[in-house]
Amino acid sequence: MVAKRRKNPRKEEKPNPKKKRFEAGSELISAHPIFESLWGHRHLTIREDGQGYATVFQNGGIHCFINAPLEPKEWARVIAHCLLHLGMGHFDPLRFKLLDPDPAAWNHACDLVVERFLDDIHFGLRPPPDWEKPDFIPLTGQAG
Ligand SMILES: [Zn+2]
Repeated sequence: MVAKRRKNPRKEEKPNPKKKRFEAGSELISAHPIFESLWGHRHLTIREDGQGYATVFQNGGIHCFINAPLEPKEWARVIAHCLLHLGMGHFDPLRFKLLDPDPAAWNHACDLVVERFLDDIHFGLRPPPDWEKPDFIPLTGQAG
């Protein structure tokens, strides 16, 4: 008599190509000398819902919406963008108190600085233009 093989529940998990592309992008982050140090302080949440590509919160949390159709280098760019908002102090309450910026203008300025930096170091690939929509709401502690 031949014993029936038990099914390995891990083996039955369907591969998720979107998650694999996201993970490949994450690996590009953790392999980069600048972002690797910022990466260690993040609280990353992978979500399947949500608009845009990611949201970064004042407390260091980053929500990545993996249903976005991005390639690994685009995911790396998105994650780096979020990390730079944190690393450059774009949520610093003292800056808001001193500058009292218009939230939309602040959003735009912070995104420009982050993207210029990423362009200068030639990191990742810019995702499609959805990324450029105003989604940085500094007074509530979110950015994208
Ligand atoms: Zn942004």
